[in-house]
Amino acid sequence: MCRTMTGHAWKPPTGLKVVKNEVLVRLTCTNCETARQDHVNFLSGVVTKRTYTYPDGYQQRFQGQPRPAKSAMRSVYLRMLVQG
Ligand SMILES: [Zn+2]
Repeated sequence: MCRTMTGHAWKPPTGLKVVKNEVLVRLTCTNCETARQDHVNFLSGVVTKRTYTYPDGYQQRFQGQPRPAKSAMRSVYLRMLVQG
């Protein structure tokens, strides 16, 4: 579902870590357990670095090829919802 319509459902960050002029913000998705770490400038709020860590199976390959485009997955998901 995260790769279709809604995007990730991030839990509110806890345990913020301040390093020099940046805050390290760690988020975890309640749906799929993907983790995101942002480095945010403490004064400006600008994200200076963002990394993701995905759970096993999240970045699946399909028939040996990279996963389909997000738009293709969204289309399939919507068809499933509309058609029941
Ligand atoms: Zn997710």
